[in-house]
Amino acid sequence: MSDAISEAIPNCLFCKIVVGEIPADIVYESDTAIAFRDIYPQAPTHVLIIPRKHIATINDIEVYDNAVVGSLYSAARDIATAEGFADDGYRVVMNCNEAAGQTVFHIHLHLLGGRALGWPPG
Ligand code: AMP
Ligand code: ZN
Repeated sequence: MSDAISEAIPNCLFCKIVVGEIPADIVYESDTAIAFRDIYPQAPTHVLIIPRKHIATINDIEVYDNAVVGSLYSAARDIATAEGFADDGYRVVMNCNEAAGQTVFHIHLHLLGGRALGWPPG
């Protein structure tokens, strides 16, 4: 699967959002990525940025996915700019597997902004 857009994986929540089977508050769309507001926001702005292509975890990213993964970061920049906190600062984070708290196994960047963010995270 080297194409940016591949088939939705059955039972993947975020693939269902990509194809419109499950509603989401979508704030950004491109050929390779979409972004929508997290249902349990942890900051005034908490957006999830996902590839249209199903990739389960960071460990599953192939070299031919690099452009798609890079597009998640340019989406984060564009959304942070639109939300008005690009200059103040914001955080993007991607959890990998259970020890880091990954609960949805379709990679997603969390974009958090609109408040001061502590470091290190828990
Ligand atoms: P993670 O724990 O890193 O896998 O992040 C999964 C995120 O998805 C959590 O922050 C959830 O609040 C969020 N989430 C789960 N279901 C939905 C949904 N239907 N729409 C938007 N966000 C969701
Ligand atoms: Zn998926």
